[in-house]
Amino acid sequence: MQVKVTVAVGRRIVAAEDVSDAKVKAALRQAGRDMGAKLESVTCPEHGKAPWNVRVHFSATGNGDIKYESCCEKLGKKVGEALG
Ligand SMILES: [Zn+2]
Repeated sequence: MQVKVTVAVGRRIVAAEDVSDAKVKAALRQAGRDMGAKLESVTCPEHGKAPWNVRVHFSATGNGDIKYESCCEKLGKKVGEALG
């Protein structure tokens, strides 16, 4: 599953691919891949749908804030469980 990763750089929001620091970029992309892997098998028990438009934004202090679209609360709960 594709997870879009962005990060706060000063007052700007930058996509992980556009981060100039190679180490930071690698870490961000890895975080996105890890999250995608965790969500790979998550589907709604009622509608059988997976979450979509999954993205995570990291603040300058490194806190990740995940956002996604889901069909209903049950899927949201599953996502929460998967991400622990
Ligand atoms: Zn649902």
